[in-house]
Amino acid sequence: MAEVLVYVDHLDGDVRKPTLELLTLARRLGDPVAVHLGAGAATAAPVLAEHGAARVLAADAPEFADYLVVPKVDALQAAADAVSPAAILLPSSAESKEIAARLAVRLGSGIITDAVDLQAGEDGPVATQSVFAAAYTTTSRVTKGTPVITVKPNSAAPEAAPAAGTVEELAVTFGPLATGTSVVTRSPRESTGRPELTEAAIVVSGGRGMGGAENFALIEALADSLGAAVGASRAAVDAGWYPHAHQVGQTGKTVSPQLYVAAGISGAIQHRAGMQTSKTIVAVNKDAEAPIFELVDYGVVGDLFDVVPALTDEVRARKG
Ligand code: FAD
Repeated sequence: MAEVLVYVDHLDGDVRKPTLELLTLARRLGDPVAVHLGAGAATAAPVLAEHGAARVLAADAPEFADYLVVPKVDALQAAADAVSPAAILLPSSAESKEIAARLAVRLGSGIITDAVDLQAGEDGPVATQSVFAAAYTTTSRVTKGTPVITVKPNSAAPEAAPAAGTVEELAVTFGPLATGTSVVTRSPRESTGRPELTEAAIVVSGGRGMGGAENFALIEALADSLGAAVGASRAAVDAGWYPHAHQVGQTGKTVSPQLYVAAGISGAIQHRAGMQTSKTIVAVNKDAEAPIFELVDYGVVGDLFDVVPALTDEVRARKG
């Protein structure tokens, strides 16, 4: 069976969920071969094996941490040369998309970014994309070279499928461009303890209807009761009520969780662009005519200051 390279997104071997989703999708196309760059391959290997990685190609070198993406492109190119894969899959993060684009140029391959589904096709993988603010769904396939495809988080539920996960050392020779841009400082983001917005299975967002920064505590309380990430509309971000890193939409982040809860958000097209592919959408809005109700699965016409705390209490009560 053909092999499919999966680029592992991790922090010192702690594998992030989108990689497990990629392994699940990769199994539809062939035997997944994980590519683990940097420290922690021994930690990551059992998790990767559990999710279907037949092999784990591992390379560790200071270049991966000390310089921006090019060393990783060099390594993935070496992996592609070694394996001759049927496809190369990466998560749709900003960094991975840059790696994917550079890799595709190196390999002379076509690239598809931000896929939301992947299927095996007679002439190679067929990728589904949600485009034009999710107004259209397209399917595409790469017609030149080894398909390089980035897949959005939450496009598939990770499924266990135990495989060997044999760790093999990947020999990488860094090219002259690898050390062209170095990392000068690195400071960890203050942790909220909540999941990362683009990876979260549940997102609770607040908009202008929140009426002020202090009221986002209601959104955070509901998010915490559900184990969710917090999002915000641009109106709320522009008002300075919540940091820009949490903005959902065309000029913010794109999320595709299992559940998206929008409170005090009207549902402008630019906001929809960032959340329309969520599996289940719930909105709380006091205006029954708000456009957000056109796309919800469940809508509550009511005052969020009553509904959101009541919902939080109910979730807490049911969790015991
Ligand atoms: P509003 O549209 O003002 O809606 C507030 C809603 O809250 C209303 O529906 C109201 O009925 C409801 N409400 C008020 N009080 C309560 C209450 N007590 N209880 C319940 N409901 C209540 N927007 C984004 O979100 N993300 C983007 O990335 C983005 N990018 C943009 C890019 C461009 C180029 C442009 C032009 C715009 C962009 N926008 C974006 C802005 C977008 O057009 C909207 O202005 C914005 O989404 C509105 O935010 P909102 O829904 O929070 O506010």
